[in-house]
Amino acid sequence: MDLKTDPKLEEFRADVRAFFANDFPQDILEKTARGASLTTAEIRKSESALGRKGWLAAAWPEEHGGPGWSLKEQYIFDEELERAGVPTVTPMGVVYVGPILYTFGTDEQKARWLPGIREGREGWAQGYSEPEAGSDLASLQFSAVRDGDEYVLNGTKIWTSAAQHADWIFCLARTDNSGKKQEGITFIISEMDRPGVTLRPIITIDGKHALNQVTFDNVRVPADYRIGEEGKGWTYSQFLLGHERTSYARIGGKRKQLAHIRAIASAVPDGGNSRLIDDDAFARKLAEANLAVDALEMTVLRVLSAVKDGGAPGKEASIIKILATEAAQQITTLYLDTAGLNANRGFADSVSPAWLEGGLATQHAAPGVSTYLGTRAQSIYGGTNEIQHNIIAKRVLEL
Ligand SMILES: Cc1cc2nc3c(=O)[nH]c(=O)nc-3n(C[C@H](O)[C@H](O)[C@H](O)COP(=O)(O)OP(=O)(O)OC[C@H]3O[C@@H](n4cnc5c(N)ncnc54)[C@H](O)[C@@H]3O)c2cc1C
Repeated sequence: MDLKTDPKLEEFRADVRAFFANDFPQDILEKTARGASLTTAEIRKSESALGRKGWLAAAWPEEHGGPGWSLKEQYIFDEELERAGVPTVTPMGVVYVGPILYTFGTDEQKARWLPGIREGREGWAQGYSEPEAGSDLASLQFSAVRDGDEYVLNGTKIWTSAAQHADWIFCLARTDNSGKKQEGITFIISEMDRPGVTLRPIITIDGKHALNQVTFDNVRVPADYRIGEEGKGWTYSQFLLGHERTSYARIGGKRKQLAHIRAIASAVPDGGNSRLIDDDAFARKLAEANLAVDALEMTVLRVLSAVKDGGAPGKEASIIKILATEAAQQITTLYLDTAGLNANRGFADSVSPAWLEGGLATQHAAPGVSTYLGTRAQSIYGGTNEIQHNIIAKRVLEL
């Protein structure tokens, strides 16, 4: 699939690039470039800038307020979004629950929730994993018990990304324990500020607050917060997987990181006489990381070219997930080389202004190391890479 020689696509690319250069909030780009975490208000500002343009729900069909782009256009859009350094769109609303709502929700549910998601006004969290249910998600025990016109929710969700920024959470809850464990699971929504919902932050190794534990203690939600049929939640949750973005690979962001690493390595390291880029071992690792991104891009384009417009990549997405996350970890490991002895100085969220006045290698040490550490999680979330290998063995290779 060739994206570079079609004049219409190039025109589209130029429009998207101009929007990010001229109309997107530059303070958000600047803070993201520093590697600092955004506040809830800043996330809303970033996402509603895309929402107002009609570009947040990039993969949604036009009838639900999407821009009606082809897969190629979506791919180019994502490439430009990352090239500009726009913060990653929180996927829980627009990528995960949105398609479930417009596919399985009632008209009332669509009217209540889709506009807030599409316009970037409301944040969402995904309550699937539990302390005793991760890869084996179907063994979840979070419960929803029907009581008149309400459900009563009890249990604990964990590793809940961005819940501190969320207005809503969608959960998988057990409504029946009698049959197979995939049966008796129901898809249900709650406000994050309902009485009985408690959020406990989890600070990760990169020094950031991205994860949470969310506990529900007799939380009452209206029965019409249930999506689809009771006991069919597993089916809806699997449907989600087919709607992951075609650009999970994040090629634009990876190329930007590689260029950034090259620039840092080309500056004289603080206190040293030689340039890191002239070190053969480092140059080799940088070249290998570039090749990994080239190979990833070819694989993504091959998978995309096999998908009809309006469709989504199927089981091959597991191959992309593995290649993309391994490449991300390979690239961000190079930040350890560029940081050198500065690597142990602290994290991006706690960098002092005095430090930012140091040389290039010093300035980028904290955000670089933070990114390196944070990227370790990529092979865990979205279904661990071991689980993706199992899927490839069974469904792609049919072993
Ligand atoms: C940064 C981050 C963000 C997350 N965000 C969310 C979120 O927003 N919402 C949410 O619900 N969850 C979220 N998760 C949770 C994530 O989905 C789970 O961590 C993941 O599914 C793995 O589950 P687990 O942690 O319980 O590990 P386990 O399932 O206990 O796995 C432990 C190890 O055993 C391996 N393993 C398990 N089963 C098999 C098998 N059958 N074959 C081979 N190897 C196996 C795994 O690959 C892993 O290496 C997030 C996790 C992280 C790290």
